[in-house]
Amino acid sequence: MNEASRPFLPFALPEIGDEEIAEVVDTLKSGWVTTGPKAKRFETAFTEFLGDASLESIAVNSATAGLHLALEALGIGPGDEVITTTHTFTATAEVVRYLGADVVLVDVDPDTLCIAPWAIEEAITPRTKAIIPVHYAGLAADMPAILAIANRHGLKVVEDAAHALPTFSAGQLVGTLDSDITVFSFYANKTMTTGEGGMIVTRHPELARRMKVMRLHGMSRDAFDRFTATVPSWYYEIVAPGFKYNLTDIAAALGLQQLKRIDGFQKRRVELADALDAGLAGLPLILPPRAPRDGQHSWHLYVVRLTDEAKVSRDVFIERLFAQGIGVSVHYIPLHLQPYWRDRYSLTPQQFPHSQRAFERMVSLPLYTRMTDADVARVCDAVRSALAG
Ligand SMILES: *Cc1c(COP(=O)(O)O)cnc(C)c1O
Repeated sequence: MNEASRPFLPFALPEIGDEEIAEVVDTLKSGWVTTGPKAKRFETAFTEFLGDASLESIAVNSATAGLHLALEALGIGPGDEVITTTHTFTATAEVVRYLGADVVLVDVDPDTLCIAPWAIEEAITPRTKAIIPVHYAGLAADMPAILAIANRHGLKVVEDAAHALPTFSAGQLVGTLDSDITVFSFYANKTMTTGEGGMIVTRHPELARRMKVMRLHGMSRDAFDRFTATVPSWYYEIVAPGFKYNLTDIAAALGLQQLKRIDGFQKRRVELADALDAGLAGLPLILPPRAPRDGQHSWHLYVVRLTDEAKVSRDVFIERLFAQGIGVSVHYIPLHLQPYWRDRYSLTPQQFPHSQRAFERMVSLPLYTRMTDADVARVCDAVRSALAG
C-alpha cells in the first residue's frame, strides 16, 4: 500500500470496550440517567484506586469545573494572584479569572516542561494565594520542591492532574500528595474517559463539603441537620449561588469500567513509549524525558522536540506527517502567546524562554492504547522520512 491509500492514523482515540457499553446500557435501562448511584460508586471506586481512605473523591462534569470549584473553595477572589505554568491548556488558568483573581504565568523546567520551582519562587508577591502545577504529559511536576515553597510562603496548592492518571511523584500516587486539592480529567483524549468528566480529590473535609455544595446549585441539607435529627427527603436550602457541575450516571458508568482498566492502559502506554523511543533513536529529536526511579509516567502525551540538527522546521515537519496520514498535535501553544493572556498581562516570549523554545520545536505524536505495534512502526517511519531533506 502506498502512503496515500493507508487509513489516517488519528492523534488520539478512546478505548471503549464491551464492559463500558454494557455498563452504560445498564444505566440507560435503570431509569436513573443523571447523578445518582453510579456517580456515587465511581467516587468510592476512585478513592479505593488511590488507596487512601482519608481522601474524598468528588465527581464533576469536567476538570475545568473541578479546578473552578477547587479555587472557589479555597476562597480565591479579586485581588488574589495564582501562579501557574504558561505551558498548559487555557483551562488551567481561565478558572482563576472566573473568580476575578489574577493569573501569574511562569516558565517551565526545560527538560520536563513542568512548572519550574525557581520560577514560582520569583513570582511570589504579597498577593499570591495559590500555585497550580500541571503534571505535563503525565510526568509529575517537582512536587517536593513546590510543596516546600508553598509551605514556606503559606500558599495553597491545587494540582492540575488532567494528564496524570496514574502518575507517581517521589514514590507517591498523584492524588495522594500533600497538596490541598487535585483535579483529574476524563475528557475524550485523556488516559481514561467518561466523554466529558473530572474528579476532584481532597483530604480536607471542609473543602470537600464546600465543593459538593457548589457543584450543584449551592444546595445543602446541612443547615437543617443542625436543628433536627430527621431531614425530610424533599427539604434543601440554598446557601450560595452554586454551579451545575455534577457528573451524570451515564458518564459515571463509563468511568467505573474505565477505572478498572487504568493500570493496564498505563502498562500499554509504557510499551508504546518504549517502542517509540527505540524507533526514533538516532534522529535529530529530543525524546520525552523518562520518569525518575521513584516516579511513574502516565504517558498521556508523547512529545518530541526537533534539535538544531534537524533540517526541517516544526511546521513543515507537521505538514509532512499529516501528508503521510499521521495525526499529530502541539501541546501547547503557550498561554503567553494567546491573545487574551498576552494582552491582559502584557506578556512577551522573552519572559518564558524555555516554554517558547520548546513550543517552537515540539510535536505530540500519537500514543494511545488502541495503537498496534505496526502503527508505532508506521509513525516512526513517517517521522524518519519527514526529517529527511
Ligand atoms: C484537558 C485538560 C484540562 C481540562 O480538562 P476538561 O476535563 O476538558 O475540563 C485542564 N488542564 C489540562 C492540562 C488539560 O490537559
